[in-house]
This record gives sequence, C-alpha cells and structure tokens, in this order.
Amino acid sequence: MFDRPLKILFVASEAVPFAKTGGLADVAGSLPKALATVSNNHSGNDVRIALPHYKGIEGTKYLIDFPVNMITRTESAIIREAAIEAKYNGEHRLIPVYLVDNHHYFYRDGMYMFADEAARFAFFCHAVLEMLPKLNWQPDIIHCNDWQTGPIPLFLKTKLFQHSFYRKTATIFTIHNLQYQGNFPKEVLSLLGVDDSYFTPDSLEFYGTVSYIKTGILFADAINTVSKTYATEIQKPETGERLDGLLRKRSRDLYGIINGINYHEFNPKTDPRIYRNYDQNSFENKKENKYYLQKEFNLPVKDVPVLGIISRLVDQKGLDLIAGVIEELMELEVQLLILGSGERYYEDLFKELKNRFPEKLGVYIGFNAILAQRIYAGSDIFLMPSKYEPCGLGQLIAMRYGTIPVVRATGGLADTVNNYNPLTGSGNGFTFTGYNHKDFYFVIEQALNLYQENHAQWHKLVKIAMELDFSWARSAIEYLQLYQEALSRNKMFAKTV
Ligand code: ADP
Repeated sequence: MFDRPLKILFVASEAVPFAKTGGLADVAGSLPKALATVSNNHSGNDVRIALPHYKGIEGTKYLIDFPVNMITRTESAIIREAAIEAKYNGEHRLIPVYLVDNHHYFYRDGMYMFADEAARFAFFCHAVLEMLPKLNWQPDIIHCNDWQTGPIPLFLKTKLFQHSFYRKTATIFTIHNLQYQGNFPKEVLSLLGVDDSYFTPDSLEFYGTVSYIKTGILFADAINTVSKTYATEIQKPETGERLDGLLRKRSRDLYGIINGINYHEFNPKTDPRIYRNYDQNSFENKKENKYYLQKEFNLPVKDVPVLGIISRLVDQKGLDLIAGVIEELMELEVQLLILGSGERYYEDLFKELKNRFPEKLGVYIGFNAILAQRIYAGSDIFLMPSKYEPCGLGQLIAMRYGTIPVVRATGGLADTVNNYNPLTGSGNGFTFTGYNHKDFYFVIEQALNLYQENHAQWHKLVKIAMELDFSWARSAIEYLQLYQEALSRNKMFAKTV
C-alpha cells in the first residue's frame, strides 16, 4: 500500500447529488468519499471529481474558463466548482467537484441520447485535461468511467504523453455497463485528435465505427469492472458485447471490484426519506413503512407480502420475466409496487396492468429518489431478475433496509446474493439461474412461502441481510491496490516511448 496520499481525479458523466440516471451516479458520488478517507497508513487521499455541468445543476461557483478547439469550432469550457462532504470513520473532508460547463453542449433538457454525443463527450474529456494544468493540480491517477470518458486514456497515451505534467499520471478505466459503448462514425477521429491510421481493428475501429469504450479499454493502464463475475462474463463471446476478444487480450489488466453503497446515506435508522426509522433490532417498525407506502400507492392497507421493483425500464433488467409472472402473482394475496422509467413499451405495459389489478399493483412511472427509499423500506421482497447485471445496487440497498432480494444469479447479483438454504438457514436471498419466467416464479413462491409460514426463519434472514457489510471500505482498498498496478504499468509504458 502507498506510503503517501494519492491525488486521484474521478471523472464520470454523472454523480449524486448533481445528476443521476443510474448506478454510475451512486458510485461516482460515494466511492470518492471512501477513497478520500480510507487508507492503511496515512490520513486518506486527495480525491476530486470532474463532471459535465448539465442544465439544472445549481449552487456552483465560477472558477476559470478557457477555449477548447473542437476542429470546426472553438468552444469555451467554463469550469465551475462545488464540493461534497465525506464523512467516513469519524473523518470529515470536502471533496472538490469540477463541473465542466458549456452552453452549446450541456444546456439542454436531459443528459444523454443527443445526435452529437461524440462531440459533447470529446469536448468534456479535452476540457478536463486542459483544466488540470491550469489549476496546477497534477493527479497521480485519473479514474475514468464508462464510454463518456474513454477518450481520456487515449489523449494521455498519445499527444499528452510528451507533456511533462502528465507523464506520471496513470489511468484506470471502469466498465459499469459494457452494453453502452459510444460507437460513432469514422469522422469523429478528428475530434479525438488522431488520424486515419488509428482506424484499424486493433486500434479504435469497432465494426466500422469509432468506439469510445474500446478506446478506454485499449489505452487505460488498468481496467476493471464492478464485480468479479461480470469481469468473467464479459470475456465470453455470448456476454462480451463483441468486445470479449479485446477483453481477453487485456485479461491480465482486467479486474473485478464489487461496488459498495454509502452506509451513511442508505441507513434505515436515520434515513429522513422513509416514514419510520428502524434497524435490525427494531424491524417491527419496518411494517409501518409498509402501511404508509400502501396508502401512498392507494392500495388497501393490510399485512400482505409486498414485493418491490425499482429499475430503469430497459430490457437488461429482465422486465419480460416480470411481465411473465405478473398474472400468476396477482392471483395471490400479495401487492407488487413498480417504480421505474425508460422504454415506452414497458411504461405502457405496467400502466395497463395497473388498471387491470388496481387492488394489488402499484405503478409509478418516473424517477423519484424519495419514493425509491420508501419502497426499499416498506417492501418485504425486492425483485431483480436481470438478464445481465454488472453489479447492481438495488439488491444491496434492499438488503440494507431488510428487504429480501429475489434475483437472477448473474454478474454482481451472483456475487452478493446467496440462495437461502432451508436445511442450514444460510443465505441472504433467493436466486435462480435460467432466464425464464417459470424459474423466476418458482423462487418468488419459495420466498413467499417462507415469509408466510416461518416467521422466525424469515426474521433471521432479514437480520442476516441487514447485518451484511456492503459499504465501500473494502472495495476502496481494492481500488487503491489497482491504482498501484496502474502506476507501475504507466512507468513501464514510459520506458518504451
Ligand atoms: P443501473 O445502474 O443499471 O440502473 P443499479 O442497480 O446499479 O442499476 O442502480 C440503479 C440505481 O438507480 C439504484 O440506486 C436505484 O435505486 C436507482 N433507481 C433506478 N430507477 C429509479 C427510479 N425510477 N427512481 C428512483 N431511483 C431509481
């Protein structure tokens, strides 16, 4: 482990509390806090965050501005500053957050899915690297996340390597979801400052396009993804999203580090968003959360098992399996609550089902962080039958709130949920493997049976789940080790150029 604090810049396209569409924002808002305060032999690391400044972000302060050359136009980057507070292990720190603002690229409704994504995030990456020398803050590590930051390792290993400011800076690239790749037409090569010689299959070309995620994977000193099982899965042709070959090639530099959650923010004992606080020694109070939640969803208030789903409504999340079990589930004495937004098809489907089963099904289409906490707290069972799941945070938050996960054993779900064994009482949830709704329904029934027929055993299971530790402390130490690997690889690279 390091004998000195590291300077770490964490670069992402979203982070809590500034902007969130999914789990990446939770990670970007909480891992830096753990890195700032966790270490073996010194008082923590100097961690900072860089993000785009989307429309609607408030409370930031102007820091500097400078022009960025975008080939056909010059755009100005305005760097604004904010901070988040890290409270860990009795330590308090402020983590500076640099928000890259530009009216043309970021002053829009929504964060993603625009026609000029390639230019928006090329601009963001250029601006981040031009900003650091101006702030005279020289990081040891730039920690990149997902395709939006893929160009950064390329810039550092090509034109910026001659720049003494960056020679010792190593990069790591974290894959939060391999399916989102940022693949664009060949013309974007110029935005990345490289010529046609980079348009080959062993360089940036990806089946006729330029791939930002491939760029990150190729040029970062070390790569990781967010669970050990997903790190293995993405090296297989069936689940490797056509990048399995490259990932196998880089398998010596590819690690799996499970995500944590912020145990201060996600704490049923103190969470101000839920109706009634509780912990593992007072989880009778959890039931009150159920009753209030039923009221909020206009469902009959009664002590029936409540199943919750909080999810982006996209194919990955196994929504066809949910749709496949709903009719049968609705014949039972249960209630099902769904909070999500995403693909129109699923939004309409769940709304329509809600009309058919008004007494048993609660549906809220939209993004609602407060309601999410109330569902985690008020449900008995949390459903997450994902087709694939790099890590998954929903099941971790659910367990923290004493809500038992029923999940498909894939990726991070397989690494964090162990199937309940009725003979030994071991396990912390229910899992199934085959991607079909019959197997899914079978384990839901098992969970419901235990809930209804063996209260003592169910309470034991809830207690086990609540007492598990999925906080960031251990994973942050693993990241520090990974940073060390990345630094030594960058040193080796420096000797070869
Ligand atoms: P992913 O990143 O693929 O969306 P994760 O399980 O890793 O999945 O993280 C999802 C995060 O987003 C969790 O914190 C979950 O509670 C939250 N979330 C998902 N959908 C909603 C929603 N509609 N409203 C509020 N929070 C949501």
